[in-house]
Amino acid sequence: MKRESPDRLEFRCPACGGDSWLLRQPVYDGFVKAGETLHCALCRHEFADEAEIPFREGSRPRVFTEADRPRPVQVFSEDEKGRMCRYCAEYVVNPFIQRCGLHRCEVQATDTCSHFRPKEDDGDKPDPLDGLLN
Ligand SMILES: [Zn+2]
Repeated sequence: MKRESPDRLEFRCPACGGDSWLLRQPVYDGFVKAGETLHCALCRHEFADEAEIPFREGSRPRVFTEADRPRPVQVFSEDEKGRMCRYCAEYVVNPFIQRCGLHRCEVQATDTCSHFRPKEDDGDKPDPLDGLLN
């Protein structure tokens, strides 16, 4: 049975833990090829069956790690995002205009403001001002 894969099959050896590759050697019974042995190239650990070898995906050496990947460019930093008008309690939106209730001017949802006040969740979180107004 012939494999189409490259000769150097790489795997993480369970015996020595190294990034190793497979040494495949034929075993002869007299002049007849009786089978083959499978060894770890690093520690010579013998594998009884190819099925127990954790071959690497694609068997290719990785030159770059995940850490080398360029980070996706973020348009807004987390801080800026937290100060955007659309998340502000003073942000008033109607079909025609977006306004800042504090500065009484037109704003864009993506504007940022130094007087930013986080909008309360509309959920079941109680409004802290409720007790003061009653
Ligand atoms: Zn090994």
